[in-house]
Amino acid sequence: MPVIKPTCIRDLKLRVNIADVVSRTVTLRKAGGGQLKGLCPFHNEKTPSFNVNVDKGYYKCFGCGKAGDTITFVRETEQLTFTEAVEALGKRFGVPIEYEEGSGGPSHEERSLRQEIFDLHDAAAEHFHQAFKARDATGEYFRQLWTEKRKFPMELADEFKIGAADETGSGLGALMLRRKFSEEALRRCGLFFIYEDTALTLHSLRPRFRGRLMIPIRDHQGRVVAFTARQTERTPEDDPAREAKYVNSPETPIFTKGNLLFNLDRARTAVGEGKPFVLVEGQLDALRCWSVGLKTAIAPQGTSITEGQLVLLRRYHAQVECFFDSDSAGQKAALRFLPLALKAGLEVRFLTLAGAEKLDPDLLFLERGLAGYDEVRRGAQSAMAFACRATLPDPMAASAEQKSRAAQAMFEIVAQAESEMTRSQFLGEVSSHLRLPLAAMQKDFQTFAQRQGRQAAARADAAEANAAHSPAPAVSAPAAHTPERHLLLLVLHYEALGRPLGTTLPHDWIDTGHTAGVLLNRFLGEFEQDAWPGTQHLDPLLETPEERALVAHLMFESPALDDPVKVAQEGLRQLRARSLEPRLREIELALANPHADSESDPISLLKEHSELQRQLRTPLVLAAAV
Ligand code: ZN
Repeated sequence: MPVIKPTCIRDLKLRVNIADVVSRTVTLRKAGGGQLKGLCPFHNEKTPSFNVNVDKGYYKCFGCGKAGDTITFVRETEQLTFTEAVEALGKRFGVPIEYEEGSGGPSHEERSLRQEIFDLHDAAAEHFHQAFKARDATGEYFRQLWTEKRKFPMELADEFKIGAADETGSGLGALMLRRKFSEEALRRCGLFFIYEDTALTLHSLRPRFRGRLMIPIRDHQGRVVAFTARQTERTPEDDPAREAKYVNSPETPIFTKGNLLFNLDRARTAVGEGKPFVLVEGQLDALRCWSVGLKTAIAPQGTSITEGQLVLLRRYHAQVECFFDSDSAGQKAALRFLPLALKAGLEVRFLTLAGAEKLDPDLLFLERGLAGYDEVRRGAQSAMAFACRATLPDPMAASAEQKSRAAQAMFEIVAQAESEMTRSQFLGEVSSHLRLPLAAMQKDFQTFAQRQGRQAAARADAAEANAAHSPAPAVSAPAAHTPERHLLLLVLHYEALGRPLGTTLPHDWIDTGHTAGVLLNRFLGEFEQDAWPGTQHLDPLLETPEERALVAHLMFESPALDDPVKVAQEGLRQLRARSLEPRLREIELALANPHADSESDPISLLKEHSELQRQLRTPLVLAAAV
């Protein structure tokens, strides 16, 4: 395994601003005390509790407790190892990565699998795009399909790297072998069918995509992670998915369908006040929107929308306009989307075209351009108006029974909204749409909510009962305020205390049975040897995720003490008392009860006792200039 030089990690952390790293994933706003704030990427929240301290280079969420530095952030949000995260940051910010002598440096074999699969997708996207641009029969065919049949401009193809997979698809395998990607990456990238027990050769690399129009799928950071392949007349007869209009990449180490929204990488920078996200059904719809200048369009990856996708969306902007086909499949999908969206804290409106029987977003924008968007926005429906109409299109003609069933269906949706205000507003809308008396409806909703609450409580009880039978979690929260933790906090904020503490505090007074003790012991050792790297460069000293998290937590606490030396001395006294007093009590007990232990010699016990007392009385003074 290649080992990155500690000096290089130090250099990287000096040169990379944590705000630049975090803001790729989290929209940050200025908060007090020189800190930045945003919505936490690690848990679902509607008010920001995720804090970034730029000067110290740490982040912490006061909601879920996640904390760390630049490298931890990249590791956790991109699921990378420590080395991979450092390499990724180096690449992103142009900091050269150096490896320890003899540790090899990254070869194709050793390079992380995920990074390799990213690179592989990059190369594949370029390969497909070149085939699309090529001055040959394949290129001609696909360009014609793009511009004449789909009526998309060529610039759009360049911008999104639209590609072509020819009927044989053989060029891709040859390219990947030439580029010396590892066997594991080729087997797991999802671009080929390879039999498990077959040796890897050009012949055994059977391409998944043949004779299809290739649309690269990017994650929210703009990296190609998968492809959607549109069927064409050139899709060969022996394609196992011949009849499928669209074929998607399977899930791979870099691609999880449920967490991805098409075009989010671009749309997220275009949203803002008065510019909500526009959710459309398919990738080509989103591309159409982009081509007419509507830059905030996104599309789910695959057929269903998941909570994960919406939580991702909510990080950037709270308003979404849902614009699906007006056919029944589109309307059903829109209705399924609504409760999930409300649960994720999104404000939703539905775009419809007044008076239009059938509405196809692609066709509308193709014919009317951006003006078509203005038109559908004028006819936009609120969430409840849409849901009521979709559930009970004609309340005037409906029976009391039908209305009551519709109301129950609406309650399910209304209950997803978190705020009481929103719920009550929703109920008002439902009452007027379904033509049901508001007071009766509010009462029914209360009954519904109580029943739901009871069910939820029963589920929670069951979960708790289950949890009671399972062992306690191995890692406890850093809540225990031990003297070790307190001294660690002091050392991190008053580094000048480190050396005097290191020379005064005997190592065996420190309880290394918990993370704070382990770190205090290790840090004081560094101070003693004059090897303390400074709080900005602690990485080489931190070995486990718990250690990193604890340091990050402590960096966010502000001890702000008048006399840190005094406080440190008090901590020392506590540690001394804790390690010496039990022995003192033991001796006193033995002396008071001489027959209980015939082995003990009262003289030596007395000696030890007075020595312990002397030690406990000795003033502990730290010669520190803080
Ligand atoms: Zn959080």
